[in-house]
Amino acid sequence: MAGEPQRRCVACRKSSDRSELLRIVVCDGNLRLDVEGRSPGRGAYIHRRSSCWRNASDKGRWEHALRIPKNSLAAAGFAEFLQSLAPYVLGEVDGEASGKIGRKIRL
Ligand SMILES: [Zn+2]
Repeated sequence: MAGEPQRRCVACRKSSDRSELLRIVVCDGNLRLDVEGRSPGRGAYIHRRSSCWRNASDKGRWEHALRIPKNSLAAAGFAEFLQSLAPYVLGEVDGEASGKIGRKIRL
């Protein structure tokens, strides 16, 4: 069976089909939500589940998954960024407005 690509969730660390996860990318010094899953850049993934979203605040895991230097998310308003992801994680909105969700980070 040729399944979907598997990706690992930053929060629970379990692998799932790509379509069950939201992709976050770092591209040109911006941390962004990538709803379509097609943006260039290094991606990290999180399940579309409130339980994973609530456990996603460990910046170190994101930095590791995104392969960016330690502490580079500390000054990026990361908590607010996570907060802004909630409607997407919880499936309350689709991708229409996702272009607005992003944070500048200093790498
Ligand atoms: Zn998860």
